[in-house]
Formats: sequence, C-alpha cells, structure tokens
Amino acid sequence: MMQRRSAPLPNGPVIRRILVRCSVTAKLIDSGRTVEEKKFESMRLTNNKISCSYCGQVHRWTKKDVILAR
Ligand SMILES: [Zn+2]
Repeated sequence: MMQRRSAPLPNGPVIRRILVRCSVTAKLIDSGRTVEEKKFESMRLTNNKISCSYCGQVHRWTKKDVILAR
C-alpha cells in the first residue's frame, strides 16, 4: 500500500496569496492580492499600504515584508 501526499500539480501556475506581517502583533494580514509564484520575483511592489484589522493601524509594506501563502 502506497501513501501519497497530495502534491501540487507539477505544471501550471502556482497562485499564492500575498500576506504581510503586522509589525505590532506579528500576525499575518491578507493583502487581498494574489500573485503567480514564478512572477513574484519580477513583480514590482512599492508604496503599499494596508489597514490592519489586528492593531488598527495602517502599515506600509514592501516586497521584502511579504509572505506568500498557498
Ligand atoms: Zn497591525
């Protein structure tokens, strides 16, 4: 009997959600944006702001603050 983990398809785009970490609570905020994983490196992300539902502040974020989630 073989056990297989469910793996993503080898072909086809991998879409990730863009999460930003709250600098106050360290929780992850969903930016509401998605990106194809392969295109993330060439993607330009500047001057982004997100209103944080955890601490109530507006956070600025750049590409290096981003966490990609499945
Ligand atoms: Zn916050």
